[in-house]
Amino acid sequence: MDLREMQEIIMKTYFAKDSRRGVLLTLAWFVEEVGELSKAVRTRDEGGLREEFADVLAWLLSLANLLKIDLEKVFIDKYGKGCPKCGAIPCVCAEV
Ligand SMILES: [Zn+2]
Repeated sequence: MDLREMQEIIMKTYFAKDSRRGVLLTLAWFVEEVGELSKAVRTRDEGGLREEFADVLAWLLSLANLLKIDLEKVFIDKYGKGCPKCGAIPCVCAEV
């Protein structure tokens, strides 16, 4: 399953509910999931990490669907040829 297929399955599964909730509340849920991922990373909770990475991506895809953003396309447009600043793979920019 590629990113476009993932976005489509989230669209089919949740778009009606996401539309009723709206962009700002969906954004709030996404941010909450990022917070939960942050806690799982901080505590190195293996089960939590797996669950929260999946949830963060699902909510990001929901948000992209509401805003009509094709995540695969925008990702490839920006990062498909390597670092958008230096153009290299791997990145050779000075900052860490
Ligand atoms: Zn770079």
